[in-house]
Amino acid sequence: MSNKTFDEITTHLQTYGFVYQGSEIYGGLANSWDYGPLGTLFKNHLKDLWLKHFVRDIEYNVQIDPAIIMNPKVWEATGHVSNFHDPLVDCKYCHSRYRADDLIKQQFSDVDTDKMDVDDLNEFMKSHQVTCPNCGKSSFTDIRQFQMMFKTFLGVTEEKSSTVYLRPETAQGIFINFKNVMRTTRRKLPIGICDIGKSFRNEITPGNFTFRTREFEQMEIEFFFKPGEDEKWFEFYKENCKSFVEKLGLKDENIRFRDHEKEELAFYSKATTDIEYLFPTLGWGELMGIASRTNYDLSRHMEFSKQDLTYLDPETNERYVPHVVEPSFGLDRLMLALFCDSYENEILDDGKDSRVIMHLNKRLAPYTCAILPLSNKLNDDAKKVFKMLTEEFDCIFDTTGSIGKRYRREDAIGTPFCITFDFDSLNDNKVTIRDRDSMKQERVEIKELVNYIKANLD
Ligand code: ATP
Repeated sequence: MSNKTFDEITTHLQTYGFVYQGSEIYGGLANSWDYGPLGTLFKNHLKDLWLKHFVRDIEYNVQIDPAIIMNPKVWEATGHVSNFHDPLVDCKYCHSRYRADDLIKQQFSDVDTDKMDVDDLNEFMKSHQVTCPNCGKSSFTDIRQFQMMFKTFLGVTEEKSSTVYLRPETAQGIFINFKNVMRTTRRKLPIGICDIGKSFRNEITPGNFTFRTREFEQMEIEFFFKPGEDEKWFEFYKENCKSFVEKLGLKDENIRFRDHEKEELAFYSKATTDIEYLFPTLGWGELMGIASRTNYDLSRHMEFSKQDLTYLDPETNERYVPHVVEPSFGLDRLMLALFCDSYENEILDDGKDSRVIMHLNKRLAPYTCAILPLSNKLNDDAKKVFKMLTEEFDCIFDTTGSIGKRYRREDAIGTPFCITFDFDSLNDNKVTIRDRDSMKQERVEIKELVNYIKANLD
């Protein structure tokens, strides 16, 4: 693991405006974060790259955008109303609150809590003298199951209205639209239906910056196919997720695939693989999961909605409930991993100088180019270059400070190309392009700029 710390990186992200503390002028709201201009641009680029990789480039896939608030029966069908709980314990001495499974995992790393039910967890907490990380005592309340779905009310007054939930995952908006999508697109199986959007979970232990929050974005695909093809499509998506991670440029040594063991799987699930990332200071954390879910979700929705969600196979004339493979990415966590991976405090000139740099994937960087006129007298001409480049890329126009300071600022926010417009540019119609990583400078004709940048993006 490198010597950069998680705190150093999150401070950097806040200093430069990738991320702000949520509700900051009111003293903040614990564990809520807002993306600033740089974070928002980065997020948009990451979504675009995901959509290109998983929707535009896979001929079977389409994207939809379902509502966040759905008929509450959706969550009865999925089991979220009765089962979406975290096992909560309080320290009887200092009243710190924890997830029992997290506490056990921290103190007994070889124990697999995923295989334990509430009774097992209670028993283990007592028999193994699990201690409170805050006060060191070993006396906890019994586990209480804490409902993680946010409730709200539909209607004018609370008493008379019905309870609804903010969705805890984007996946169910896809399942309940399966029939609509099949009818209106007139496609055959296999079909992948994708959604990018916000999910909400009332986590007991949010924290570690944007790693675990109560409001976050997911990018999910439900891929529907003929029963029996489960292994084929599971492997297909495993490979696809692998090539996506490679495309992002995350360092190999910081990525691992973790196959769930049989005992960890839900009864309906055939296989699950997580992609994990080695976060500085925090250690390994899940970025996304690929799950082979059989026909569980559609069957439950058939049972609860009384609608026919079967598919009539035009080739075999068989009618069946399609099976599903689900790749599910957490957008904010993936962003955090990319920020951590690319951040570097680089030593230059044999230790005489240093610079903070984010080696962001050039296609994801908030700005592809910074246009930097050498003097304010050149602003009008340099703006023409800026206008030309904004047709193709996100760009920033910066006139403030010495050129050296402006380069450093662009390094710190990960801008791959700095374009300096100087007095010679007026005569030779060329500008100087500086590469972020190598710091090499090259003189390029203005009319060739777009081609040059496109050629050097990957
Ligand atoms: P975890 O074990 O970390 O709670 P999970 O297994 O419950 O995650 P999934 O339900 O599989 O997560 O959701 C898919 C992805 O959504 C996760 O891999 C993660 O990237 C992201 N995610 C889940 N919960 C949160 C959260 N509270 N904050 C930020 N991202 C989250």
